[in-house]
Amino acid sequence: MNRFHGIELHPDTATFLARPRRMLIGGEWVEAASGASLPVTDPASNEAFCHVPAGDAADIERAVAAARQAFESGEWPRHRPVDRERLLLRLADLLEAHAQEFAELEALDNGKPVMMARHVDVALSIDFIRYMAGWATKIEGHTMELSVPLVREREFFGFTRREPVGVVGAIIPWNFPLLMAVWKVAPALAAGCTMILKPAEDTPLTALRLGELALEAGYPAGVLNVVTGLGHTAGAALAAHPGIQKIAFTGSTEVGKLVGKAAMENMTRVSLELGGKSPVIVLDDVDPAVAAAGAAQAIFFNQGQVCTAGSRLYVHKSRFDAVVEALSGIAAGMRLGPGIDPATQIGPLVSKVQQGRVMDYVNSGFAEGARAAAGGAVGDGPGCFVQPTVLVDVREDMRVVREEIFGPVVVAQPFDDVEEIARRANDTPYGLAASIWSNDLSRVHRLIPKIKAGTVWVNCHNIIENVMPFGGFKQSGIGREAGRSALELYTEPKSVIMML
Ligand code: NAD
Repeated sequence: MNRFHGIELHPDTATFLARPRRMLIGGEWVEAASGASLPVTDPASNEAFCHVPAGDAADIERAVAAARQAFESGEWPRHRPVDRERLLLRLADLLEAHAQEFAELEALDNGKPVMMARHVDVALSIDFIRYMAGWATKIEGHTMELSVPLVREREFFGFTRREPVGVVGAIIPWNFPLLMAVWKVAPALAAGCTMILKPAEDTPLTALRLGELALEAGYPAGVLNVVTGLGHTAGAALAAHPGIQKIAFTGSTEVGKLVGKAAMENMTRVSLELGGKSPVIVLDDVDPAVAAAGAAQAIFFNQGQVCTAGSRLYVHKSRFDAVVEALSGIAAGMRLGPGIDPATQIGPLVSKVQQGRVMDYVNSGFAEGARAAAGGAVGDGPGCFVQPTVLVDVREDMRVVREEIFGPVVVAQPFDDVEEIARRANDTPYGLAASIWSNDLSRVHRLIPKIKAGTVWVNCHNIIENVMPFGGFKQSGIGREAGRSALELYTEPKSVIMML
């Protein structure tokens, strides 16, 4: 298993793939209690190339018990903030030392171009772990001067502490498998929590490898557990488990609602990073070539499988034809290929199921009267490819305009009046992100407060930054990851009142 699509793998990647892959529970590498396994498929060929355990409720039970024990006793509670910082820095160093291996695993497992995996997924993950390591030593409470008017004869002193929330369950999607894992693992471990990570069934490999590196870095047994398995078995068991104090979920809005309801039964703290249908708004002062390059990056990055993908393009009518023509030219010129090939610009989608879902949307658009200015079909061969697609002649009531497609498909529409565009941009149940393209600062500033989205980019799109809170308005989620807010998700404030 050293070559895929004619490309020689890094020896570390080949070694990892040659080993049997088990799950990490309580510091041990174990099979699923049921003995069942799941195939891992290369989306560029649609062929299985290895297996992982199919964990289910019994394995979640074991993992929660291990995480609970590690949280309450043993070495972990004795780790001081500086020890937690050092462990995270060590984990980041190990990840950096294995960057090519992680990039190749991500390319084989998810289909994404290996160069992108290396310079985006892996690089951002290393950076994020280092950023979060710094927070371990900066978790603070406040002191308060108290009045207590009922007991005037005594003095009181008050302070707050932020304590680790406890055992954390993390359920992540397949579009950025390593990065989404790290977005949850790093703040949880910085805060002093222990956790169970459930990667998506389509992309379990880098989470398992991350578990290996965590043990190598020196994390005590049970602090990080990794259970592979299906969503409706392992994922549902984790979300509903009364032994966890916090569930952190990234995925679709549909599943996010199930997770949120399950969490509410136990009053488990919950954060949800969900779907999007983000608008890209191009005002009339923008060079069409610049707008088209920006719109292409907004939608075709990661094959469009990005929660913040700029999937609705609104261009002022004076520039609409020029932008659509330039964008369609970019789409038609993109090189499709296996993710593992460094020359690939657009890889396959993650699975046949996802390819089918995306093509159902495209075909529904055609049936309702849309036209493809570029793409509109699957790619050649057995892989899960979809051509980068630009749909025009669309209406606001079409499914392709209203629903998250999660593929390389953008719907382009002209607009007339900048006053009307905020209403159209907000006419969606989602509110994850938006971008505004213009150099007219006063119009941009007037537009920003009108857009109902967790992130608004100006003259850029899909820029993610460690220090900026990230999350959604409306049905795009609850809570903010990254920045200082991430720490708040994994800590619980405690008020202490002392009578002196
Ligand atoms: P998904 O909701 O199908 O699956 C996400 C995870 O949930 C997987 O690990 C899956 O196994 C698990 N799961 C499935 N059913 C479950 C259940 N009943 N109970 C518990 N867990 C269950 O999402 P996906 O298809 O993997 O990912 C794509 C979605 O993720 C898109 O909607 C995208 O917008 C969203 N996403 C959001 C963000 C964000 O930060 N807002 C980031 C990335 C992806």
